[in-house]
Amino acid sequence: VRITFLGTGGSFGVPIIGCKCRVCLSTDRRNRRLRPSILVGLDEKNILIDASPDFRLQALENDLKKLDVVLFTHAHADHCLGLDELRIVADRQRRGIPILAGEDTIISLQRMFGYLFESRVWNLDEPKFVTKVIDAPFDLFGLEVMPLPVRHEDMWVFGWRLGGAAYIVDASGVPEAAEQAMKGLEVLIVNALRYEPHAKHFSVGQALELISRVEPKAAFLTHMSHELEYNDLKEELPGNVLPAYDGLVVEI
Ligand SMILES: [Zn+2]
Ligand SMILES: [Zn+2]
Ligand SMILES: [Zn+2]
Repeated sequence: VRITFLGTGGSFGVPIIGCKCRVCLSTDRRNRRLRPSILVGLDEKNILIDASPDFRLQALENDLKKLDVVLFTHAHADHCLGLDELRIVADRQRRGIPILAGEDTIISLQRMFGYLFESRVWNLDEPKFVTKVIDAPFDLFGLEVMPLPVRHEDMWVFGWRLGGAAYIVDASGVPEAAEQAMKGLEVLIVNALRYEPHAKHFSVGQALELISRVEPKAAFLTHMSHELEYNDLKEELPGNVLPAYDGLVVEI
């Protein structure tokens, strides 16, 4: 399994429009963060988790041409506005793209993108996108995929476990069941917005607490705001935890 970080920023990305802080002005590319998404490669299959508003740039920069399935964590704008950008992928690969998510997320996507779910692959009688509600673990290309419901303030969102890796974003709390389902991970990717607590998102400290309870072999922080400077943060983290950055590839 090959994980590519397509975007590691929060909802504004980094740099933030109009901001002149040290991180937004940094010339270190690891401080430039597009909106959050990862690509999971499994042999010839490409699994996208979330379609960020920056999907087009992310696809161009990572030479991404084909998608076999998209898993969504939830339907907030920073995680799903790139769905429209996937039209061209469906047309070029001459095949529709399955969209898998929890029921609330599917309902929101259908409301936001009604026109997309009526469109067909170019010159074929095949829908561009077909939705499927997920509420239990399932097999995807030989990999066990498990939805992990976690708290995002007053709503539930899905973390996803794919084999030995888990991707948790926009979590503000992880219930016991999800924590148990994360045992034995090779890689845990978890959101850490900033140092100070936030109602909707884990802080760095809260992310580290989760990591120490779940005990993955390695962990990566993502969904980071401009308050986190890559090199400073890297220095402060325990040895098995790293800040992710756009373009980072992790093989497990
Ligand atoms: Zn800034
Ligand atoms: Zn959110
Ligand atoms: Zn978010």
